Amino acid sequence: MLAGFVLTPACQPALPLLEQVKQQGELVVATRTGPTTYYREMDRETGFEFELAQAFANYLGVKMRMVAYDDLGELLTAVRTGKVHLAAAGLSVTPERSRQFRFTSPYEQVTQDVIVRSGTPRPATIEDLYQRKLVVLAQSSHSEYLQQLQQSHPDLRWEEKANATALTLLNMVNDSQADVALMDSAAFQTYRPLFPELQVAFPIKQAEPVSWAFQATVDDSLFNMAELFFNQVNASGDLEELRERFFGHREFDYVGARTFLTHLDTRLVEYESDFKAAAEEVGMDWRLLAAVGYQESLWNPNAISPTGVRGLMMLTQLTATEMGVTDRRDAQQSIRAGARYLKKLYDKLPQDLQEPHRTWFALAAYNVGYGHLLDARRLARHEGRDPNDWFVVREKLPLLLREEYFSKTRHGFARAGAQSVVYVRNIRRYYDALVWATERDNQRFVPAPANMVAYRDTLVH
Ligand code: GLU
Repeated sequence: MLAGFVLTPACQPALPLLEQVKQQGELVVATRTGPTTYYREMDRETGFEFELAQAFANYLGVKMRMVAYDDLGELLTAVRTGKVHLAAAGLSVTPERSRQFRFTSPYEQVTQDVIVRSGTPRPATIEDLYQRKLVVLAQSSHSEYLQQLQQSHPDLRWEEKANATALTLLNMVNDSQADVALMDSAAFQTYRPLFPELQVAFPIKQAEPVSWAFQATVDDSLFNMAELFFNQVNASGDLEELRERFFGHREFDYVGARTFLTHLDTRLVEYESDFKAAAEEVGMDWRLLAAVGYQESLWNPNAISPTGVRGLMMLTQLTATEMGVTDRRDAQQSIRAGARYLKKLYDKLPQDLQEPHRTWFALAAYNVGYGHLLDARRLARHEGRDPNDWFVVREKLPLLLREEYFSKTRHGFARAGAQSVVYVRNIRRYYDALVWATERDNQRFVPAPANMVAYRDTLVH
């Protein structure tokens, strides 16, 4: 007789949220699509917030499901109503939000920057903004701050955009549909190579903390685990490494960015279908191959180096012969052979090498040679460091120039050791720029903001 064993739901105490998540085996995380948060790269989900949330789910021993919201207000409602467990979305901690949510300790600080087009009068104070068309995201930290400023600046006006991202605002300023936009410094820095004509006029608000938001009206068991998780990733250096991985290669150079955009319109258009065909054949992202082609030759099929390396993908005679190329100046042949060669190196790398490091190692091998790359890995291993970590091995590559090191390695002196580190960093920058250029063009040519899923799918090739 089991009488008394079955509790009625009414008197059953609710499980703490943490236990519920563990029982369901799934952590549901709200985010926003963007270069500082979440996007698709080479057929998989990635982004700083995605990887961080994934690490938190691993810490809890559950799976993670990310839900991307177009609209910031909808995202906040999803957290408030418990539709998701948390938001990892580059959210700023603001006074108003602090009343409604539980925020973890900040993992980042941003400033709110005033963005203008160069060649237009540059505002320097809040008063200078009165007569300008100013755009911000609806329900953003920026809109909240403007409301606060309006109390002392009653003439301050702005327009709020729902269902939009920082990219929407940048396109508006760039296309003269708005004079000024307000956004996070981190977002602007990442998009900047696509908008060389835009610049920061002045920071309107300094040092705003960014962190994860949790529902305030449930128990704090899950939230407390997130705080422990942040303590751990801070202490272990994992958070710093993640930051380096996503933002370490960010750098702006006006001339380089302008040239890149010009070449995008004048040169890449001619070879895009060749990159796509080659990418399909080897199962890689065409934008990665295009980024390699840009680093190698600026998409110039007649490029030639003093050492006799030539063509759009700058193949040596040896590699070209091995890949069956009859004319290295033939762009289609060059792209196809470059892709197959890169894939060959990628496949040859040790089995235990994980993404995204594996791609970076393959790129370095394409540049410096496979043997030298293995030497740099051996140097790392000798020091008891992780030879599968690109950030460790890239410190070793420049050492192959120095006698005391290269004399101990199998493949000897590598002049291009340091150069290959820059090579990989540049390709990552071009790749990011190509990913965001795809997105920018999507936004520009799709009249209404596309549904997020459909839109994300267009980024997957
Ligand atoms: N930090 C901004 C905010 O919290 C981010 C806005 C966005 O999602 O782009 O409102």
